[in-house]
Amino acid sequence: MWSQRDSIDYSLDRRATLIALFQGKASAMEACDADPYLRRAAKYHGEATKRPCPVCKKSKMVELRYAFGDQLGQYSGRIKSLVELEEMQSEFGEFRVYTVEVCGECGWNHLIYSYLLGDGQTRKAPRKVRTLEDDDWAKR
Ligand SMILES: [Zn+2]
Repeated sequence: MWSQRDSIDYSLDRRATLIALFQGKASAMEACDADPYLRRAAKYHGEATKRPCPVCKKSKMVELRYAFGDQLGQYSGRIKSLVELEEMQSEFGEFRVYTVEVCGECGWNHLIYSYLLGDGQTRKAPRKVRTLEDDDWAKR
């Protein structure tokens, strides 16, 4: 994506978590504990990769992308597809995309990288509009 900048790679942290997991450290067990919401999101919104799961090796990883930023207003924190992000980079000044990998089989999940997108022009957050999705969130 043309406006991608300031990338952060979390692969060292990911590797450390995997090593701890394989050594049976209890604290790492929660790495394989995707909550039902995350699993559902991965199933319906995840974008397939060719990478096998590093833990169970049974399933290919899927990636979820979350967009966060003040200029996104109420839309901050939502899952976005690559196509949506492609459009958003010309509509917003700056927001950060967090890419999380999830295994639908064993529940392994980890942040893999993040980067900034946007055209650099500061804008006001969109006015708050009440949507069905908001009601959904409130019920959780
Ligand atoms: Zn797995």
